[in-house]
Amino acid sequence: MKTLISSDVRLLADLIRKGGVVVFPTETVFGIGASSFNEEACKRIYKIKGRPSDNPLIAHFSSIEGIKSVCEVSEVAERLLCEFAPGPITLVLPKKNPNIFPKEMPTLAVRIPKNPVIREWIEECGSPISAPSANLSGRPSLTRMTDALRYFDGIVDGILVAEEPNLGIESTVVGLYEDPPVLLRPGSIESDQLKLFLPNLVLPNVITKSGEFIPPSPGMKYKHYSPQAHVKLLPSETFVSEFLQCGKDSKTAWIGFSFGPTVDDDKPTHKIDPIRMKLVSSNWEYSSALYAFFESCDQLGMETIYCEEPREKSGKEGLLNRLQKASEAN
Ligand code: AMP
Ligand code: MG
Repeated sequence: MKTLISSDVRLLADLIRKGGVVVFPTETVFGIGASSFNEEACKRIYKIKGRPSDNPLIAHFSSIEGIKSVCEVSEVAERLLCEFAPGPITLVLPKKNPNIFPKEMPTLAVRIPKNPVIREWIEECGSPISAPSANLSGRPSLTRMTDALRYFDGIVDGILVAEEPNLGIESTVVGLYEDPPVLLRPGSIESDQLKLFLPNLVLPNVITKSGEFIPPSPGMKYKHYSPQAHVKLLPSETFVSEFLQCGKDSKTAWIGFSFGPTVDDDKPTHKIDPIRMKLVSSNWEYSSALYAFFESCDQLGMETIYCEEPREKSGKEGLLNRLQKASEAN
């Protein structure tokens, strides 16, 4: 298939109106989208990704008005949108228009991306864009244009060239379809911020009724975010000592806040290829770099990726969730 790679939002909107599938960057990660009113096109996304058919897609809008035209927007939902949208928040709301994908569900996950170019494109499309993250199901989401091109050139109808994601992890997902509201997926907008609006917000770890795991969101039962390499999540002290011991092993990679004695010390242990070692200075920088680092490590055939635990600071919630999921998958 010939893929149109362009920054021209009109050309890419044209593809969507004709039933095409387009890969596009958002402030969180890359998405792979189709018109929310074209069921066939939306179903193609599942085929391309290998996504389980019962894991619904997020509908992306250019405005709050657009959301109101298809969903019941309660007072608190509107306040959350006014505070956090456009931005990395997804609300799951009761659906008003049954024709929007996925038709069989009574609820719809909605989000307004931050980049004005992406909103302009959605506006041009003339419909919301249903999109999951642009990656193969179960693998980490993509955050670099080079990776999006490598995976999707020749596979989708178009790739929209615009600013690359900078947050690096998927949106926070909040379920507002029943009381109490539920945090379905942690992200860059954290529960402390949400609780100012939703004091009874529930954080669903494992909800058990007679010992059974009942996922409050379909996506929660699936494996997510894991690179091919094994991921080891370690507290700071262990991370540093392991690095000093095993850093020389050329099949290991390292991402964290400190690597012990300064790297330019005259010790052979520290002279490792910088490509296998990513130094970050905040949880935010860590999130932003994480999936790209995973992707590079897989490209290089690394066997183990050692990750230092996030700092007890803002930005920990979503990052720790992704690191735990990646390390659980081993
Ligand atoms: P992705 O876009 O691949 O990052 O995944 C979207 C996430 O939103 C998944 O975890 C979905 O299960 C979740 N989601 C989408 N629509 C709904 C919905 N109607 N109800 C609950 N969760 C949803
Ligand atoms: Mg995803």
